[in-house]
Amino acid sequence: MTKKYVYDFSEGNKDMRSLLGGKGANLAEMTCLGLSVPPGFTITTEACNRYYEENQSLWDELLDEINLHISSTEEKLNKRFSDEDNPLLFSVRSGAVFSMPGMMDTILNLGLNDKSVIGLAKSTENKRFAYDSYRRFIQMFADVAMEVPKVHFETALENMKEKRNVELDSDLNSEDLEELVGTFKNIYKEELNEEFPQDPLVQLKYAIEAVFRSWNNPRAEIYRKLHNIDSSLGTAVNVQSMVFGNMGDTSGTGVAFSRNPATGENKLFGEYLINAQGEDVVAGIRTPEHISTLHEIMPEVYDEFLSTANKLEHHYKDMQDLEFTIENGKLFILQTRSGKRTAQAALNVAVDLVKEGLITKEEAIMRIEPNSLNQLLHPTFDTEQLEKAEILSKGLAASPGAASGKIYFNAEDVVEASKKGEKTILVRQETSPEDIEGMISAQGILTARGGMTSHAAVVARGMGKCCVAGASEVMVDESQKIVRCKDVILKEGDTISLNGNNGTIYIGNIDKVDPALSGSFETFMSWVDEVRDMKVRTNADSPKDAAQAIKFGAEGIGLTRTEHMFFNEDRIPVVREMILSKTTEQRKNALEKIRPMQENDFYEIYKVMQERPVTIRLLDPPLHEFLPTEKKDIENLAKEMGLTYEEVNDTVRDLHEVNPMLGHRGCRLAVTYPEIYRMQARAIISAALKHQKEGLNIVPEIMIPLVGDVKELVYVKNEIIEEINLVFEENSSSLEYHIGTMIEVPRAALLADEIAKEADFFSFGTNDMTQMAFGFSRDDAGKFLGEYEEKKIYPRSPFETLDQKGVGKLMEIAVSEGKKSNDKLHLGICGEHGGEPSSIEFCYKLGLDYVSCSPYRVPIARLTVAQTTIKSKNENYGHIDK
Ligand code: ADP
Ligand code: MG
Ligand code: MG
Repeated sequence: MTKKYVYDFSEGNKDMRSLLGGKGANLAEMTCLGLSVPPGFTITTEACNRYYEENQSLWDELLDEINLHISSTEEKLNKRFSDEDNPLLFSVRSGAVFSMPGMMDTILNLGLNDKSVIGLAKSTENKRFAYDSYRRFIQMFADVAMEVPKVHFETALENMKEKRNVELDSDLNSEDLEELVGTFKNIYKEELNEEFPQDPLVQLKYAIEAVFRSWNNPRAEIYRKLHNIDSSLGTAVNVQSMVFGNMGDTSGTGVAFSRNPATGENKLFGEYLINAQGEDVVAGIRTPEHISTLHEIMPEVYDEFLSTANKLEHHYKDMQDLEFTIENGKLFILQTRSGKRTAQAALNVAVDLVKEGLITKEEAIMRIEPNSLNQLLHPTFDTEQLEKAEILSKGLAASPGAASGKIYFNAEDVVEASKKGEKTILVRQETSPEDIEGMISAQGILTARGGMTSHAAVVARGMGKCCVAGASEVMVDESQKIVRCKDVILKEGDTISLNGNNGTIYIGNIDKVDPALSGSFETFMSWVDEVRDMKVRTNADSPKDAAQAIKFGAEGIGLTRTEHMFFNEDRIPVVREMILSKTTEQRKNALEKIRPMQENDFYEIYKVMQERPVTIRLLDPPLHEFLPTEKKDIENLAKEMGLTYEEVNDTVRDLHEVNPMLGHRGCRLAVTYPEIYRMQARAIISAALKHQKEGLNIVPEIMIPLVGDVKELVYVKNEIIEEINLVFEENSSSLEYHIGTMIEVPRAALLADEIAKEADFFSFGTNDMTQMAFGFSRDDAGKFLGEYEEKKIYPRSPFETLDQKGVGKLMEIAVSEGKKSNDKLHLGICGEHGGEPSSIEFCYKLGLDYVSCSPYRVPIARLTVAQTTIKSKNENYGHIDK
């Protein structure tokens, strides 16, 4: 049996995506559901891969198979492909496995030639339509299949409109269009040195090959890279009989979502154009009509469309993005797929679908991409500043968010400026796939043309980036690099602000504030917490961060860094006094000044956290970080402390280290100066005792950083316990407390069985552990890690995504060895990885008790844990089985 490379739409279904591509699989599914889909067939992704194996040519058996399917389509429609009187025409549509908006272009009206255009005019009694179709075909074929620049044709069209003194394509008559066909064919010949191909089969062959080739064009590659799509998947090609939206006033074409993709509101959302074809709606050629107006002009078609959208939603159990064409009052569905949406809409739709009984809570949880919550947690404009802000104009609210930045008029300039650390806004007439990199770098996007389904709008929503589109009052001059709006002129580098929630454009910068989280966010997160079976804590050094994290659902603090508390103006002189002390006595004096401040820090944090667990890490960084480096500052410090410049400078020099990250820091400081940790321990316990008196039951968790050996831990711990006992005695009271350690030095992971005997808890400090396991520092690795990522040696930065293989192995050893000698050992992670989904999943599998991450990542972590919990039930994984 030879392999089947071509499937009729009636032979496939939605689960055959990897073979038929997303578009083809859904066309098949809709055909089988009995919806009115123009017949056709799909050439598989396997054919695409074989095309590359065959040195980019179509082989004979494939062509035979295609011919068979052409014949069967001809039979269904009772028309012939190469008929000159009443020709069957095709569209050739690419279809990758994952939808890639705008990446590959469609060719419409394929099969027309000089003779059949006359036949089509006669058989439809519509000459205008026939030539309109032919001129479109020549342009698309030349552009997509033969790479003739579109602008030649666009200019010819503009010239024609000017000559006839009309504004719209639809105002040109049949003679104009016939003339234009002649011009287009001449352009074709001039550009390619050959005649426009007249044989429909040759046209089809070229078109199919063009789709296969486009799989590897640079734009498609960038998109795949951005979305982690495997480049070996290949694309399918759909060959579909044409229906015509350009037949006159009872015809049209449109795109619509079954619900609002910006807000999730359960109401049809979309646009259409009468007497138009294909991409006219999204290309911004004429301003499209809102879908609701179709209800007035073609009520039956509207009702049918509405019920089709509902039917598809129920069938796919998700919001759908539909493309349709109306030919002489009859509705055809040309595409359906699950609609791209903002995070806000995704959440609202998921919650609504649960309430409507279409999906379960668990399904809803699995549908939200954890990182997308970022879009909801992030700030909106400060309302006070907003009131005073100067409005430039208004466009369409294409993708929500708030953005401010300097304006740039092309993608390269945006990328360039962003590299320098500038916040930028990409301003374009309208965007195209070439702008993708600029769109990634910019804070927001503004376009003068295009509707809610334009390229800019669709791509921005997918990225979660603020976008205002179709701001028609704004004149964008891309070559002069200026924006004109009423009597305002803005130049490159001027600052504007965009409100993607309502489309307003402001002159100048507006500060941002935190969002209000309620409604479906609250409902959804409550489901997340019902399912979730691992705790989520936060890393917070101040009462303010702690309060923010609680709002985001943190269940405790996994890491309070005490060094940050010393870096303010009031305190740093005392800290320096402590560091510059010549004797233990002097040092104790200085520490005694710091102690009440520390005690108050902890008291305030406990107050915010109430009885939730709080892990406080004792002083960690090398001491020289607290000392000045500039000569002037050293002089000032010397004066302040009544020392000579030389004395202070000597100390600074003494403290200088070649490799401070591997130097005198962490618990090593306390081995030399135990009084530092003693002071901190006293402050922690005193703060807790104070709360105890006021009725709060706090169990302090004291964390000792950078331990590499159990003896080191025991030494420091004994000092701390001695101090704590003194505090208890002085207060004639006591409380429960825990002392644990960070596991960050690889040696500690390897010797975890010994260390665990002396520790109540372990917290993985995966930042330091990554540096030490790889042997490169986080501060310097940036210079070369890019190269490693590109060359796929380390495909992702191990500082962003936990290196499960190496660092993960150290963690695994630490967990299993630690538990072996202390079965009550409590386990967590406080490195940056505690907020990264794939790393969180790994921690779950390791059996940690909690992850801890920065406040803004807490909801992301909660959702990831819930998803992992659900997956673990289905896939039967939990803790590592040893
Ligand atoms: P994209 O992936 O860019 O959306 P499509 O293959 O969906 O490309 O084609 C774009 C548009 O071309 C469709 O939305 C539709 O308007 C038009 N089109 C495609 N195939 C046909 C067809 N068989 N008949 C009429 N119009 C079509
Ligand atoms: Mg397209
Ligand atoms: Mg489409």
